[in-house]
Amino acid sequence: MKKNKVPFFASLQVKYAMSYLVIFAVVLVLLNTYPVVASQDLLFTSKRDSLKSQTAVMASALMELESLSAEQVARVMNMLDSMGLTRILVTDPAGLILYDSTRQPQEEPPPGEGEPEEPEYRYALYQEVVSALRGSDVSYSRYTDRKFISTAAMPIVYRGMVIGSIYILEVDEVQGELLYSLQQNLRTISLVIAAVTLIMSTFFSKLLTSRIAALLRAIRIVGEGEYGHRLQPVGWDEMAQLAEEFNQLTDRLQTTEEVRRRFVSDASHELKTPLASIRLLADSILQTDEMDPAMVRDFVGDIGSEAERLTRITEHLLALTRLDSLPAGQQLPVDVSQVTERTIGLLQPVADAAGVTVEQNLKPDCLILCTEDDLSQICFNLVENAVKYNFNGGKVFVSVYRDGDQVLLEVGDTGVGIPEADLPKVFNRFYRVDKARSRAAGGTGLGLSIVRDTVRRHGGWVTARPRNPEGSLFTAGFPRYVPRQSERGRPGA
Ligand code: ADP
Repeated sequence: MKKNKVPFFASLQVKYAMSYLVIFAVVLVLLNTYPVVASQDLLFTSKRDSLKSQTAVMASALMELESLSAEQVARVMNMLDSMGLTRILVTDPAGLILYDSTRQPQEEPPPGEGEPEEPEYRYALYQEVVSALRGSDVSYSRYTDRKFISTAAMPIVYRGMVIGSIYILEVDEVQGELLYSLQQNLRTISLVIAAVTLIMSTFFSKLLTSRIAALLRAIRIVGEGEYGHRLQPVGWDEMAQLAEEFNQLTDRLQTTEEVRRRFVSDASHELKTPLASIRLLADSILQTDEMDPAMVRDFVGDIGSEAERLTRITEHLLALTRLDSLPAGQQLPVDVSQVTERTIGLLQPVADAAGVTVEQNLKPDCLILCTEDDLSQICFNLVENAVKYNFNGGKVFVSVYRDGDQVLLEVGDTGVGIPEADLPKVFNRFYRVDKARSRAAGGTGLGLSIVRDTVRRHGGWVTARPRNPEGSLFTAGFPRYVPRQSERGRPGA
């Protein structure tokens, strides 16, 4: 038998654990990306919207100035609330910075201190400013380095003319940090889930595969011939059912094996007895000098009848083996009454010799699906027994009749009868109630086994019970065959 160990990486345990892990990995990746991306998008949109409206407020305040100069812009801008913005730039139509919130002096320097500052010409070289000066509103937002950096720009229009632009920048570290901590938390949660999943999947897969391994071990043990081995079903799941089924299967296997062993030992015992007699008789003839010729003839006669017995036993054994291994031949509608009548005809000389009368009551139209050989074998064995286990002057009653959707064959006798305790066992192989009587009558102990197996093979049943007031009654029942309309009236069908 092949007992190759399954490589660890090909084992069910690994496959089971891996499938768990793959599913959880996908879930964790989704968990780590979707909420972060979604909240980031949400913040981007809200930032752009709020920056846009802020620029709009400032632009409309500046519009009133009609033309922009650094002082005027600074004055207006100082009146406006910077609303937490990091930088506000106001440019003229050429992009020259007129106002920069990051460069505004907090207060006027004291007079006389320091040189007056040279005016500095700086241009706002930002893409947003360029777009705004061309007349469009723009806003951008991005998340880098744990910060939300958002910009917006808008043209300042007076009477349809672009007289400048306003550019604002917001660097939001608070919300940036919040998003970052959300990311961190999700990562930690994911790691914990991954660790728990790994432990659980290893545990569950081990649990499952250990039960499969136990089943595999049990199959191997039984396969090696230890039919008494059983599994202990644990729980109520499919594995427990599998263990239960395995136990039932092994039960049947054990029973079959026991029956087979008993049969082989019984059969060899049955064959040994006549062989030993033949040996003994032959030795006696050989070793006895000048044996009386009449005695020799007697002994040789005995050898002959023992050989006949051997032939009968082997024939019966072969019949049983055929029943076990070959499928039922082609089943055809057979009239039980006709076959029974013919079989009684065959046994009539035997009945006459035993001084037994056979009475028959055979009803017409008793069709069953069977083979004629099998049916006459059943009938022959039952009637032969009824004659064999009878008294001189006794009677045998054979009847065939329909009973609902069945056809019954009844063989009763006024013979020796069968004790109640032996009734269930008479169909067992080699079972005899009275060994000496069976032997004397040339029995093999296999006749009724053959009857039972043959009847069952054609979907029927057979029982034995005591007959009132004396003797025994054997009944065999078969499913009745009802011919179709077109077949009716066909002879022998
Ligand atoms: P055998 O070859 O010994 O007749 P069977 O299998 O035909 O074997 O029958 C088994 C045993 O059942 C017989 O040995 C006999 O003791 C008992 N038996 C069978 N038929 C009858 C019967 N009609 N009356 C009494 N005993 C019977």
